[in-house]
Amino acid sequence: MKLGENARVILGNGYSSNAYFFGSPEGTLCIDAGTDEAAFRENASDSPKILLTHGHADHWLAAAREKLFLHEADINCFGELNSMFGGLPTPQLEKLPRSFEWGDFSFKVIETPGHTPGSVCFFEEKNKWLFSGDTLFAEGGVGRTDLPCGNREALEASLKLLESLDYSLLLPGHGAAEE
Ligand SMILES: [Zn+2]
Ligand SMILES: [Zn+2]
Repeated sequence: MKLGENARVILGNGYSSNAYFFGSPEGTLCIDAGTDEAAFRENASDSPKILLTHGHADHWLAAAREKLFLHEADINCFGELNSMFGGLPTPQLEKLPRSFEWGDFSFKVIETPGHTPGSVCFFEEKNKWLFSGDTLFAEGGVGRTDLPCGNREALEASLKLLESLDYSLLLPGHGAAEE
């Protein structure tokens, strides 16, 4: 599904997260990759750049062979975060930048701990798109905090922070977008 010029989404099937793709002359940037490797490869260039909203495997398994950029707090508890998934490959992890440009897009990283300690949202400043991972969903749904390293109070503070943000479209880690 197209989001706009040079931006598209694969909505997750089953437990897979959504995957968002941004094209530029440098190749593809992805926010989360989901679990479907064939669908991921179809939409990504060679050597795509992959940024994760957090470390849960339903957001990166499709891209396990690529380098994954992730908040440091989730790098530090990556094993524990994924202890509920069995038999996972071990991907190469790198620290997320604080902001980055990609083609016509300009992203800011917003730290929103709670669902996991290193959960982030990505705010695309030109279109005012908010990629909210598993922190906030359509229709007011919020992330679970009962999984390893989850923290309810931190999530509530993060949701408050998002409320103060002027976004026009919410693009969550699972389910449909919301205006
Ligand atoms: Zn998820
Ligand atoms: Zn999650």
